[in-house]
Amino acid sequence: MSPIDEEQLQGLQGVREFLRIRTSYDVLPLSFRLIVLDNDLLIRKSLNILIQNNIVSAPLWDSHNGRFAGLLTSTDFINVIQYYNQFPEQIDNVEKFRLSSLRDIEKAINVQTLETVSVHPGRPLYEACSRMLRSRARRIPLVDVDDETGRETVVSVITQYRILKFIAVNTEQHTSLMKKTIREINVGTYNDLATCKMTDSVLDVINSMVVRNISAVPVIDKNNVVLNVFEAVDVIPCIKGGAYEELKSTVGEALAQRPEDFPGIYTCQEDDRLDSIFQTVRQSRVHRLVVIDDNWHLKGILSLSDILKYVLFYGEEGYFPMT
Ligand code: ATP
Repeated sequence: MSPIDEEQLQGLQGVREFLRIRTSYDVLPLSFRLIVLDNDLLIRKSLNILIQNNIVSAPLWDSHNGRFAGLLTSTDFINVIQYYNQFPEQIDNVEKFRLSSLRDIEKAINVQTLETVSVHPGRPLYEACSRMLRSRARRIPLVDVDDETGRETVVSVITQYRILKFIAVNTEQHTSLMKKTIREINVGTYNDLATCKMTDSVLDVINSMVVRNISAVPVIDKNNVVLNVFEAVDVIPCIKGGAYEELKSTVGEALAQRPEDFPGIYTCQEDDRLDSIFQTVRQSRVHRLVVIDDNWHLKGILSLSDILKYVLFYGEEGYFPMT
């Protein structure tokens, strides 16, 4: 094994060890607010609550049984949009749907129902990460159970973003050993990329997100130059007020509705080393990196799950970088 391989492995082992001795509680800020939505709430109202509170997801609570009932995310709204498109005669009912109907909507449009996985906040962080990656969930609720009453409490939700940030901020001594380039370690997706143009309709992009089970699509021009990235959360302002039937806007119009504090998109190149990617994660609000060449041509996508999968599972049986 070359010295660079050895160092890389040492870095990976250091991070894995760190994740085994830390718990999900450690990732949480000292003080935070958590908005939990009752499963009986109308979907339309839940959308307004997300927008008013400037959040993009919330845990759901089944108050009849006193139990955690899943997580509301932008994918659910995308499913409602798909439902309306497949069953336009149902538009009056869409208005009446409650959050508890989301599973029926998934079934009706035939999308894969996501498992409602959750973890106990006191369990090792490694466990939260691997459950998240294996279930393809992008965020996972931390659910505690009262020993005496057996009642569940949703403590918080952790995301791939928070975990990767936590790793980047706290394990620089390990991540700085990861000097291999993303080309060498073959992380990210480089073939058969889903892309869109500024003039494409939001509906078409949503469709390709659902079909491909992805949450971001690079926006390119006719020369394959990257202009922006359309993200699943960009759908939320488009359907504000329940305007599912008015979803005719173009990608360009939808992107113009982004909040002023939108952090922008992040790029990298195939020759960038993993340690420098961690440095970007440490310093910025990165949710994915678009891989480009010197002239901003699109080469690939490096998602947070690609990075986390490599960090957790590389070298283990069954690890395939691009699945
Ligand atoms: P999130 O971006 O919400 O954190 P994630 O990390 O799972 O979620 P996705 O964007 O859903 O990221 O990516 C899942 C897989 O699909 C990754 O392997 C990623 O490289 C790949 N992928 C992401 N976007 C595209 C795209 N536009 N075209 C092709 N593959 C993509």
